[in-house]
Amino acid sequence: MRRLILTDPLLRAALQALRRAPETAAALTVGLCRLAPDREDLLARSFRQIPWPPPADLRPEEAVLLRWGTMVLPEPEAQGRALWVLGEDPAGPPRLHGLDGVAVIGPGMPVWPDPPASEPSARWIRTRGALGEAAWRRLAAARYGIIGCGRTGSLLAEALAAAGARALILVDPDRLEPGNLGEMIPLPEGAIGRPKVEALAETLQERFPWVAPEPLTVSAAARPALHALRTCDLLITTVDRDAARLAAGVLAALYLKPLLDIGAGVGLPGVQPRVGAEARLILPGDSCLLCGGGLAEPRLASEALARAREVETPAAPRAGSLRSLNMAIVGLALRLWEELLAGELPASRWLRLVWIGGTPVLQEMAPAPRPDCPLCAQRGAGDAALSALPAWLPTLLKS
Ligand SMILES: [Zn+2]
Repeated sequence: MRRLILTDPLLRAALQALRRAPETAAALTVGLCRLAPDREDLLARSFRQIPWPPPADLRPEEAVLLRWGTMVLPEPEAQGRALWVLGEDPAGPPRLHGLDGVAVIGPGMPVWPDPPASEPSARWIRTRGALGEAAWRRLAAARYGIIGCGRTGSLLAEALAAAGARALILVDPDRLEPGNLGEMIPLPEGAIGRPKVEALAETLQERFPWVAPEPLTVSAAARPALHALRTCDLLITTVDRDAARLAAGVLAALYLKPLLDIGAGVGLPGVQPRVGAEARLILPGDSCLLCGGGLAEPRLASEALARAREVETPAAPRAGSLRSLNMAIVGLALRLWEELLAGELPASRWLRLVWIGGTPVLQEMAPAPRPDCPLCAQRGAGDAALSALPAWLPTLLKS
């Protein structure tokens, strides 16, 4: 099984070039994500226009060619390259040679072949009606990596499961404490002392029999988590630990994954706004966690990720928490994902919800673009960059 994954901006740029010069092709430079001996994702990093038929001096990493047109094709396998022939109807099924599927990361999150239709059920009839059948099928078929399974993470896992999602990877190293039971989704009292992810996985499975959660009792910075999360279609962070957020940000850039970064808190008296929450949907084609939002403690986060575990950060004043606030931001974050699946969200979006004088105010944040972003430079670099992580991680801090 060999899939090509590419971002919407890259595909648009390549299409534009090919339309202008139909006697050419686009050679994609790809990174690799090897998921199993017989399963790999090719991650498009860049393209260059080449003549057709292709010249003999293609570089080995230019493993895929895009071609515009409907004519009969020469055998592309002669050069060991995969080929995607784009026709007049880009929304139609693609003509692929040497590839089993294509996924475009951007508005609509189109994938070919389409996820199979589920059995007819009245359960999600209204969600399907509102989102559209194609968008709902993609929502249900996607694999989700939820990093942080406390208040916000458990509410989000529940919301996704209720909407029909099946594959949830749950990542959190912590055990349940009595103080967790107040704001998380209802978990049995007897679960205190057990890993949060295990108790959450069991509860989700009982309530939503179609869900197959995969609990991982490790930090997202740990290597087993990084490897498991490579298989996800959406990465979600609901943690205040920057190492885990950076781990997700690095994976999102390396493997071309959308990242939904969520935070909520009730601050200390006298600090305004006191109650606030944020949801950022970051698309790898236009930004990353570093240039599309940032980290509070990038140096500590980078050290922790390089050592593949969390480090204890100095104790900060403990912020409060309100379930109502967690619910509000989970609803908003899920809406961003739904809008992306429905093709309505054209680019990354960063929303901040605050209460000022008792009134909720939604602010749209606009991070300054950083064309020299060192993490965006690793976009699509895949397994090669992940295995060399400690070597290049310090470069993220230099700019
Ligand atoms: Zn960036």
